Amino acid sequence: MFSSLSEKLQDVFKKLRGKGKLTEKDIKEAMKEVKLALLEADVNYKVVKDFINTVTQKAVGEEVLESLTPAQQVIKIVYDEMVNLLGGSDTKLTFSPSGFSIYMMVGLQGSGKTTTAGKLAGLLKKQGKNPLLVACDIYRPAAIKQLEVVAQKAGVKCFANYNSKDAVKIAKEGIEFAKASRCDVTIVDTAGRLHINQELMDELVAIKNAIKPTEILLVLDAMTGQDAVNVAAAFNEQLGIDGIIMTKLDGDTRGGAALSVKAITGKPIKFAGIGEKMEDLEVFHPDRMASRILG
Ligand code: GDP
Repeated sequence: MFSSLSEKLQDVFKKLRGKGKLTEKDIKEAMKEVKLALLEADVNYKVVKDFINTVTQKAVGEEVLESLTPAQQVIKIVYDEMVNLLGGSDTKLTFSPSGFSIYMMVGLQGSGKTTTAGKLAGLLKKQGKNPLLVACDIYRPAAIKQLEVVAQKAGVKCFANYNSKDAVKIAKEGIEFAKASRCDVTIVDTAGRLHINQELMDELVAIKNAIKPTEILLVLDAMTGQDAVNVAAAFNEQLGIDGIIMTKLDGDTRGGAALSVKAITGKPIKFAGIGEKMEDLEVFHPDRMASRILG
């Protein structure tokens, strides 16, 4: 993932390191190359502009240019800003202080929502929680079956009601079932659509109001690039989200979505999907991701 961006940035840094002393012109030239690399990685244009301005401002300071290791310092500034871009330190999943947490999974069809609901349940189970999955994607019977299958793989219970076409009612029943079964985490899988539409949003808002989730997690497909960022902005505006799970980061994504979405929506990536298997979900660490990109 991000291999092309990573290679390009490493080339820029290599050139800087080779120079010894740096002038303002050297830094500006390097930043031009960083800008190009980010744009080629499909990072949002405004995000790139702000990023380059901030880094340049910090890097052309006298302290950096006069220091014994100016290249190192510039690279450190880029690293710090990239960590900020990827979400800073504000990326942890929040648990309810009541001891009973509810996560509502939302996203477009095909983003990986159902798979990710199962993966998240498995991950939380490994952390000692007792999660329940609730199937509210009622329009495709196959989706309910799919959730039951991933629940089984994750070794957690799944609540479904094949007889109802009322997602709000099923969500509420699921929460009651979780409480009765002494589960401490409920993960509600909701219906997706191919595109955002009002009907979908109305249903999600109704579920949100009925179950008051601890967090709403938006599942986004990293491979869809800036479309994913637009989807995130729309969901955040119309529903309000708390965090993002970026899937398919194992593919040959250029990285633009992951690098733009926090700056555009203000909401952090909390988990990363890195494969189709149940264990392929990682807690998202902006610092580790920035290190991976910058090499
Ligand atoms: P939904 O329609 O949003 O519920 O999406 P699904 O959960 O059915 O996933 C759609 C496809 O994406 C499936 O083939 C999943 O195996 C695949 N998928 C989900 N997450 C990842 C991921 O992180 N990496 C890869 N490579 N594939 C994923």
